[in-house]
Amino acid sequence: MSSELHETGHAVPSRPAGEWERVAEIDLSAVRHNIRRIKDLVAPARVMAVVKADAYGHGAERVARVAVDAGAAWLGTAHVSEALELRAAGIEAPLLAWLHTAGTDFTAGINAGIDLGASGWELERIAAAAEEAAQPARVHLKIDTGLGRNGATADQWEDVLDAAMGYQDDGLLRVVGVWTHLAVADEPDRPETDEQLEAFRAAVALAENAGFDLEHRHAANTPALLSRPDSHFDMVRLGLGAYGLSPFADQTSEDLGLRPAMTLKTRIANAKRVSADQGVSYGLRYRTAEETTLGLVPLGYGDGIPRIAVEGPVQIDGQRMLSRGRIAMDQFVVDAGPDVAPEALLGREVVVFGRGGPSADEWALAAGTINYEIVTRISGRVPRTYVEGSWGEAGEE
Ligand SMILES: *Cc1c(COP(=O)(O)O)cnc(C)c1O
Repeated sequence: MSSELHETGHAVPSRPAGEWERVAEIDLSAVRHNIRRIKDLVAPARVMAVVKADAYGHGAERVARVAVDAGAAWLGTAHVSEALELRAAGIEAPLLAWLHTAGTDFTAGINAGIDLGASGWELERIAAAAEEAAQPARVHLKIDTGLGRNGATADQWEDVLDAAMGYQDDGLLRVVGVWTHLAVADEPDRPETDEQLEAFRAAVALAENAGFDLEHRHAANTPALLSRPDSHFDMVRLGLGAYGLSPFADQTSEDLGLRPAMTLKTRIANAKRVSADQGVSYGLRYRTAEETTLGLVPLGYGDGIPRIAVEGPVQIDGQRMLSRGRIAMDQFVVDAGPDVAPEALLGREVVVFGRGGPSADEWALAAGTINYEIVTRISGRVPRTYVEGSWGEAGEE
């Protein structure tokens, strides 16, 4: 094959062997570190690693294995379908799924040994599924202590306990847990968490007085397990913290001793010199102030970068730059300034967030959202790769 070089006025970047175009690099040793840290913090309470939504974008199967290996006793997902995927991948750890619809395959869940959260209506369906599966379901009854989402209200609680006891007496299910979810644990000064925990203790007492033999009382998410030791009970449901992110507006990952697991990076796809007053991206919302060098970052809202983000930060060769103009489906633009030559920019590594770059928290701020959403929305178009020890702690294991 012959090739001919044409004069383009650009230095053409060569392709490093086996390299990615764009990648979300997941540091599994960071996940391991975070799980161990939280496990030590909450002991003797158990850790349930919440791996819903593809482990907040990190890859449910890989994260689940590492989490269990690092000491998570349980795994949690929202949907039975998510839990079934983990079972299909050969993951045998105890699993709880809690958000169901009329379309939920409870029979498959029971057959796969998945514990089921239930707020009320599900009990009848779960009992029928248990008959079909010819084995009792394991159920965690949920009380709504104030969040106003799923869970039985305090008014419904005794009826739900009665119904569950009926099915339990019939041998169709066993209530092994009572649980709730907190609304404002990320704002530790608010009084509602006290009220919710008080209501939870009352609901647990009613269940125990009704004769249920509970193995698992659980209420805490990441903000609660970090800020409220009195929320730990028998188990905590750890999501965000497992991925190394902080749930608090005024504390960073580092403050909490956590290591962000996801690094989103790519390479500058185009770079060019433009004159002053060059408009940038749809709507021409940005215009260059002077002759300058623009760099094109090949990540957009099709990859999960929020279109609404304004001045999202990236790091290129140790230098901070900001997204300019609108984020498009596939790409956004940075203004590297007049002193950077296009040839020096083309092909450079761009860290959007993670190790060696800005934090997911900074992107959350730029987009008016929370770090949960930034990592979770990184789409399937961005390949995941898995590494160990990128934070320099490989020897720690
Ligand atoms: C997602 C979720 C969690 C995990 O919350 P984090 O704040 O990410 O730790 C815990 N419990 C329930 C019911 C959830 O839906």
